[in-house]
Amino acid sequence: MNDLYREFVDQSVQLKGEDTDRERLLLAVIGTMSEAGEAMDVVKKHLFHDKPLDREALVLELGDEFWYLTLLMRTLGIFPEEVMAKNINKLIERFPEKYPQAEREAFLTYARAFGA
Ligand SMILES: [Mg+2]
Repeated sequence: MNDLYREFVDQSVQLKGEDTDRERLLLAVIGTMSEAGEAMDVVKKHLFHDKPLDREALVLELGDEFWYLTLLMRTLGIFPEEVMAKNINKLIERFPEKYPQAEREAFLTYARAFGA
């Protein structure tokens, strides 16, 4: 995610009340959950209604999800690079056998570069 996208999210927020962290957090949390449902509905139609996967619709819903996640992180002062880095660390600790030594080191080096 780049700075321009973060700026785009900041400029496109539409709140009902005052522009407070509480309002932004509430919108981000509700939006994240509802967009996940919309994305899963696209997959459900494919898996249970014998329809071809509507990739374009899924991409659009994932974009909505990404927007709300970005708003959540922006509101709480969390950078996506930190999230990704800590996720790498967590999964390598949990499932070390899945990552050959050389790859593990490359992933951990990447994670450390972002503060994990
Ligand atoms: Mg949507």
